Amino acid sequence: MEKTLFQKIADREIPAQIVYEDDRCVAFRDISPAAPVHILLVPRKPVTSLAAAGAEDAELLAHLMLKVGDIARAEGIAEGGFRTVLNTGADGGQTVPHLHIHIMGGRSMQWPPG
Ligand code: 5GP
Repeated sequence: MEKTLFQKIADREIPAQIVYEDDRCVAFRDISPAAPVHILLVPRKPVTSLAAAGAEDAELLAHLMLKVGDIARAEGIAEGGFRTVLNTGADGGQTVPHLHIHIMGGRSMQWPPG
């Protein structure tokens, strides 16, 4: 099966500014940042979206959630606060079919999002 864009980034076939990686996930700076800090955290496993995740992914999803805080602390945005976004499907605004968590901070966020 063709690798997803984010698999290619995780495998270093496409360059990106990687800020964290381990055996299960990779985090890198968004190419088109919507905030002073804008990181994408992706599992190495190409789960298409949150809607496609299954019970077998429970531990992986928990790992990702815990890494969000670690990355936010490392980026210096944990104390001031930050936004996490997980777009799912067309109506959710998902453009890359590989589950990813946006971690955004460094400015005050608005609510509700558009
Ligand atoms: P989505 O819209 O699917 O929630 O988010 C996809 C994100 O991936 C967007 O914020 C977009 O800027 C980012 N993106 C798309 N292509 C690339 C790329 O080649 N490299 C990096 N670092 N980010 C990308």
